Amino acid sequence: MKKDDCIFCKIAAGEIPSKTIYEDELFRVILDLGPATKGHALILPKDHADNLFKLPDDTAGKVLVLAKKLATQMKEKLGCDGLNLVQNNGEEAGQTVKHFHMHMIPRYKNDGQRIGWKPGEPTQDELESIKNQMIG
Ligand code: 5GP
Ligand code: ZN
Repeated sequence: MKKDDCIFCKIAAGEIPSKTIYEDELFRVILDLGPATKGHALILPKDHADNLFKLPDDTAGKVLVLAKKLATQMKEKLGCDGLNLVQNNGEEAGQTVKHFHMHMIPRYKNDGQRIGWKPGEPTQDELESIKNQMIG
């Protein structure tokens, strides 16, 4: 299902032009307009889902299979040295477009990008308590 006011629904449906590198019944994969690196692409499901929490299981499974296929293609065609999959959910996590999308970011030696976080320094007790919270 499409959502009326969603730009990625319109792009996925082909109503707004995009640089499409792959398309099938379920997905359109486009080049990001503000790429982190050469070849930065976005996997868009054609059916609207706000984020991972709302994504149907079968679509979720197929996203990673497609990412794997395209990653291999990026390595061959672009000659990238590595690749980051990034997928943001919610404003606090950096999501700016509220239609699920998976970033595929090819990485090149000395590309000057950094995708990461500041590592914390929890104690073993803190890790134990968090573990218990998560599985309890
Ligand atoms: P987010 O921050 O939500 O994970 O990522 C949104 C991404 O979509 C950004 O990297 C941004 O550059 C890209 N983007 C936003 N609007 C458009 C658009 O209209 N077309 C394309 N191709 N990319 C877009
Ligand atoms: Zn949408």
